[in-house]
Amino acid sequence: MPTSILLPVAFLLLESAFLLLLPALRAPGAHVIMVAAPLLAALACAWRARAEAGPARTGWAALALSLLIWAGGAFGNLWQELVVGRAYEMYPWSTLAFNLSAVPIAFVLASDWRAGAQPMARALDAMVAAALGYGYFLLTWAMLMVRGTPDADSIATMVWLEDAQNLFIVAGALVRWYAADEPAERRLFRSISAYAVLYLALIFGNNHFLAGDPAYGPEASTVITLGFALLSALALAGPSTDAVERSARPGMADVVRAGSPMLLAGVLLIVSLFLIRVDYAHGVAGVLIAVLGYGLRNSFAQAGHIERGDQLQRERTELQAIAWTDALTGIPNRHYLDQALAGHWHVERRAHHPLSVLMIDIDHFKSLNDRYGHPAGDACLREVARVLQAALVRPDDVLARYGGEEFIALLHDADAAGALVVAERLRAAVESLGIENPDSPYRVVTVSIGTASAAHRGETARLVAAADKALYEAKCDGRNRVSGVATLRAVPVQAA
Ligand code: GH3
Ligand code: MG
Ligand code: MG
Repeated sequence: MPTSILLPVAFLLLESAFLLLLPALRAPGAHVIMVAAPLLAALACAWRARAEAGPARTGWAALALSLLIWAGGAFGNLWQELVVGRAYEMYPWSTLAFNLSAVPIAFVLASDWRAGAQPMARALDAMVAAALGYGYFLLTWAMLMVRGTPDADSIATMVWLEDAQNLFIVAGALVRWYAADEPAERRLFRSISAYAVLYLALIFGNNHFLAGDPAYGPEASTVITLGFALLSALALAGPSTDAVERSARPGMADVVRAGSPMLLAGVLLIVSLFLIRVDYAHGVAGVLIAVLGYGLRNSFAQAGHIERGDQLQRERTELQAIAWTDALTGIPNRHYLDQALAGHWHVERRAHHPLSVLMIDIDHFKSLNDRYGHPAGDACLREVARVLQAALVRPDDVLARYGGEEFIALLHDADAAGALVVAERLRAAVESLGIENPDSPYRVVTVSIGTASAAHRGETARLVAAADKALYEAKCDGRNRVSGVATLRAVPVQAA
């Protein structure tokens, strides 16, 4: 049997043996057990919180806090009955503690699981949770202290209130478990669900049938330790080792994550409505805090979503720029050029304007690479790209690295004569750079350029092929020169 089960079972066996074998010590022993059991369960949850990371850690820590508060309530009972010496009454501070123990759990059920959840929304959740705790305090105080000794009516209300609260937690835990889509999240909410269901049943049985009935002693209430034993076993089972798997219900998970903060406001609303009966001002304040807290929280969450959306848009733009940029030279790459050639931009405005393509290739580049090495070749490519770019003066003209040591310039609104002028300017700019290339007859790095022009932009694929052909001619004629083909015969734009 694993330790996680062995320890709680050993506690339950010890507890039963103690109660059965030592009848004389049964009443005081039961009180000690009712304090020890939640304390041990709190230790188990604290251990689990240490072993977890991220939101699961907060979740298990909140469970530990809830159990601590519960143990405080049990200690109040022990104090009243064993030290003060009043038996079988409902003690306000203990009842308050038992009610307050639900607050950390409600907070976890309402909290946004995602890391980076809005801190402001979280703070508002905490505020609503605090108001919930204070509401419970006022309700308990008003019902049990102000009227002097608690009467049967107020005790019955308290008991039903506790049932409603427990039922709410069971429902919330089950829904969060159902919608959880991370292993740690699923395990946390599965554990809370199992514990909450058993706790609801045990408390219902205790409050409605055992407590206050003189036929049963305080030892009857120790059935509740079954719930703590179960939670301890679940906590001691340790963190999930599952590989990260996603839920098959992503839509459901989003709905629940978005809707779960309603739970906290919902519990506060229930408490406040009960409170209105005995303390009108505070009850109304509770209702207002529930409604305003929830509304504000959603506004902050909404603002966070908008901010995240903007952030994603910015990142998308940055990624787009990276995807369209040649890493070596920093100018647009072939991918960008393909989009530009396909006419994805300026189409309407320029559909009937002439377009020229310049195919630029560095002469004898292989020799330069072989002689000086690749890094020197890369530096040369960067320099050539820089002067080509600088020599293109029209802002709409596009220079892109087409491949290895080939570049393409796209000239909008340029006819064949204009293209030749620009090409000659580019060629001269590279030559005047004066980068040494001893294997070239020109002794420096030069480029050959082929140009092709079209009357309108319906035929870019033919334009590139024609420019390539012109480049070949320039190479054959001795390199370091410009060769152009006449304006392509217009072909009507095909309707897509
Ligand atoms: P031509 O005058 O006929 O154009 O001769 P070439 O040597 O320039 O042409 P070729 O196509 O034979 O060689 C191109 C060389 O460009 C081959 C390759 O070593 C080099 N190259 C291609 N891409 C890169 C790169 O990113 N960096 C460097 N350093 N060299 C590259
Ligand atoms: Mg080449
Ligand atoms: Mg070349």
